Parts: sequence; C-alpha cells; structure tokens
Amino acid sequence: MKSWRAQVLVCAGAGCVSSGCAGVYNAIVEKIKEHGLSEEVRVIETGCLGSCNMGPLALVNPEGILYMKLTPADAGDIVLQHLVQGQPVERLMYKDPATGKAIAKMEDIDFFKLQQKIVLRNCGLIDPKNIDDYLERDGYKALEKVLLNMSPEEVIETLINSGLRGRGGAGFPTGLKWKFTHQAAKTPKYVVCNADEGDPGAFMDRSVIEGDPHSVLEAMAIAGYTIGANQGYVYIRAEYPLAIERLTWAIDQARERNYLGKNIFGSGFDFDINIKIGAGAFVCGEETALLASIEGKRGEPRPRPPFPAVEGLFGCPTLINNVETYANIPAIILNGADWFARFGTEKSKGTKVFALAGSIENTGLVEVPMGTPLYDLVYKIGGGLKKDKKFKAAQTGGPSGGCIPEKYINIPVDYESLAQIGAIVGSGGLIITDEDTCIVDFARFFMEFTQNESCGKCPPCRIGTKRILEILIRITQGRGKEEDLDRLRELCYNIKDTALCGLGQTAPNPVLTTLKYFEDEYLEHIRDKR
Ligand code: SF4
Repeated sequence: MKSWRAQVLVCAGAGCVSSGCAGVYNAIVEKIKEHGLSEEVRVIETGCLGSCNMGPLALVNPEGILYMKLTPADAGDIVLQHLVQGQPVERLMYKDPATGKAIAKMEDIDFFKLQQKIVLRNCGLIDPKNIDDYLERDGYKALEKVLLNMSPEEVIETLINSGLRGRGGAGFPTGLKWKFTHQAAKTPKYVVCNADEGDPGAFMDRSVIEGDPHSVLEAMAIAGYTIGANQGYVYIRAEYPLAIERLTWAIDQARERNYLGKNIFGSGFDFDINIKIGAGAFVCGEETALLASIEGKRGEPRPRPPFPAVEGLFGCPTLINNVETYANIPAIILNGADWFARFGTEKSKGTKVFALAGSIENTGLVEVPMGTPLYDLVYKIGGGLKKDKKFKAAQTGGPSGGCIPEKYINIPVDYESLAQIGAIVGSGGLIITDEDTCIVDFARFFMEFTQNESCGKCPPCRIGTKRILEILIRITQGRGKEEDLDRLRELCYNIKDTALCGLGQTAPNPVLTTLKYFEDEYLEHIRDKR
C-alpha cells in the first residue's frame, strides 16, 4: 500500500454526517489539491471517532492531532498552517475545561485516554469503504488462522476461555452458544447477526458497522466455520441507511477478494452473507422475532425452548449474536483468550461500548473495560453534567434497563454489580439525567416506548404495559393516588413473571427502579397534585 506523508481522517459517523462533515471533507480535499499535496496527503472519511458532540472532527496523523467543531472555512488553516507549514492549528483543538489550554493530541484528552478499544479498534482510523485499510490492520488474519490452523472445537474453547459474553443485553456466554449450535445435528445451519439496535439513545452497533464493517463479516465467517454453516444474515433496521450502505460495500469487496464465497483461503470452506433489512420494530431485536422477520413472517416472538441453537431460522440450528459481540471475535482469535480475559472483572470479561447521552458534557461513543466505575464514565470521560448541574440518575440498558441513583455513582459497571441494584448493562445505552429531570416523566417516557413497541401477542405485556402507562400519566398529571404505587408494583412484577419475551419481561424495569430509588418524587406528584 502507498505510504503517505500525512493522513487526514474526517469522522463520517452518522453524528458527524448530521453536523456537516461532508462539507468539511470536501473543503479539505479542495485545499489539498490547491496546495499540490494530493500525492502526499490522504484524506479519508472514517467511521465514528466517538466524541459526537464535538463534531465535525478531523484527526491528522501521524501526529495524532484532533480538530473539533470544524466548518468548511477551517479547511484552509488545517492545510496551510498544519500540513504545509507544520504548525498545528491551536484554535481548533480541544480546550481543557479546567485550564482552558488547548490539548493537541487525541490520546491526551480525558474522553479518549481512559478508554480501552477492542470493539472500536478500527473505528475512526480506517476508511470503512476500503477493504485494504482493514487488511492493513490485520483484517481477515483471524479467519485465515481459524480456517488453516484451528479446529471448530479449538475456536469454541478459545471463546469459552476468553469469558466473552453476549453484548446484546442478556450476557449469555458466547463460547457456550457457539458450542450448542456446533453440537446440533440438523443441517443446514445459519449464522445471524442482530443489528436491530432499537433502544432510544443507543448507537453502538450502528457505529461499528459504519466504521468497521469487515470486523463483523470476518467474525461471522469464523462462526460459520465453527458451527458448520455456509450462510449468514445480517438483520439491520432500515433507519440505518449509512450502515447498510457501508455493509453492502464491505460484503461486495469481501466477495471480490474471496474472504466470502467459495473455498475461502483454499480451505474448502464456503460462506456467504446476505443483508435483511428490518422495518424498525423494537421487538425484532428479540431473537425469535428477528428470525421470523427474516423468514418473511410477522416479527413476533415465540416461546423458547426450542432455542435457536437447536431450532432457529427455517427450523434449523442458528447462531445469533449481536454486532458488538462479533466485533470482539477476530481480536480474541488473534491475541488469545488470556489476552482478552485480562480486561474487565472476574465474571464480566473484556470491554463494553456505551452510547453516552443525556445531560452530560461529552456525549458520544465510548469503550471501557467492564467494571469501570460509573463515576469515571460520567465525570472523567463524560466531563460531568452540563452547566454544573447535579447528577440525578443514570439509565443503563435503555427501556429494558434500570435507573441508578447518585448513591451508586461509584458502582462498577458490569453484569453482576448492576444486577444487584436492579439495573442491567443491557446493550449499552447510557443516559444521564440531572437535577431538573422529573424521574416519573422519565419512567413514563420509557414505558410509552415499550408500550408502543409491544407486539401485542401476549396479554401481560399488551394490556399490562398499557395499564402501567395510564397510571404513570395520571400521576404526572396530578391525578394519582398513593395506592397507585402498590398497583404499579403489582403490575410490574406480574408482567415480569408472565410476559412471553424479553421486551415484556424487562419493560417494568425503569418503573421498578425509579419507584425503588425515587419514591418520594412519585409521592410529591400525588400529594402536591402536580
Ligand atoms: Fe409481544 Fe410483549 Fe408478549 Fe413480547 S412480551 S411477545 S413484545 S406482547
């Protein structure tokens, strides 16, 4: 590959696209041409760099200098001052909130330096439309290693020893899931990637596909070899057009280079992947509903067992993992189970990607070791609350998750610790609220969402969530009664125990945790009639 004197990486994740990165990219390309640097300086559009509230962003390598909040008018200074004269442009750099001083290098900014990137290892650093960029960073080497040197049993053992757990929310051990599907006797088998990320405020999976689509394709091919499947599907929602476009490019390029298709690496193994675009129903993130949707049926969950590992797509054994889970796998295969197990806690290994959102200074995409204290996510990486407001609560796991009050601000964010206080890691949405947030309204927002998204198949969820929502509306309109709180609890526990699928079983979580930690706010609404 050609070696460049410098590279300008313009973030083109969906966040930066919406803040105008295309204009910035075009202006930088124009200025590079004007100064006759086209043969020395490469300008590329990358996936998400992470700090979405600072966009449009551009990273200039090899120095690693990050420029923020760019407009097309800034292109002239970046090219003339930085690339021609060798003087970085201080006015476009991040300013330390404590000292006001400019911080030039991305790696020195708190938002980035406290992160550990495994899943996002290539996001923001490669051109997702160019397979050569992925290959330069060891792309498809894990697939080669597996196909030429490892048995399916060795791959499964590596995953089990790594401790990787499914990142879609439930946290089931990935290696075991692969083992069960591998052991299923029936053929054909299928590999499915769940990219139907639907939580409000969550955009982890979308960003991985936009920024590093080949990492998912490579992992799916490894999965195909391991379980004995020759066909994979990526189920992705239609609301993610940029991710779909980049995934389509990536599949075409992988086919051209024979990383997908017949006889991959001359191993005799055939594997291909198709994209299935979903219509954006939240329930289709539930695996049996997702499979029904791929089959062309209405996206409704069905009772389990049988689990998809035994009877999944078209009645055949099917392995389903989400985008983030897959994106970990090439790195685990190349670096080994022990390397991965070094990150995180005893039972929650590796890292977790979170979409930081809400009343916080630095919103965006972050990846930290499992077990990182919530405090670090909110204050060190997130930069604290906007306008120095007081922290009120953090909602992890979106509408299926729980509300964490300030007394648990130091809790390690991992599967076990959050479960102990009634919250969940979930898929990775992390919404921070401040002192001005009405917590009952907050719970109502999530219940409105799940009630709208309930598929209606089972009465506890279809009717129960509606009753909960009616009570919450009554309370927030000053028409609530104290006995409503017991009614809410009873409804919540009934739905949790009797709903058919995860959507209904987890829908009461925001209500239960806000009732547990903020009952006084419910009572204020009721007693003060407001
Ligand atoms: Fe449908 Fe809700 Fe029942 Fe799930 S719990 S099957 S979403 S009605």
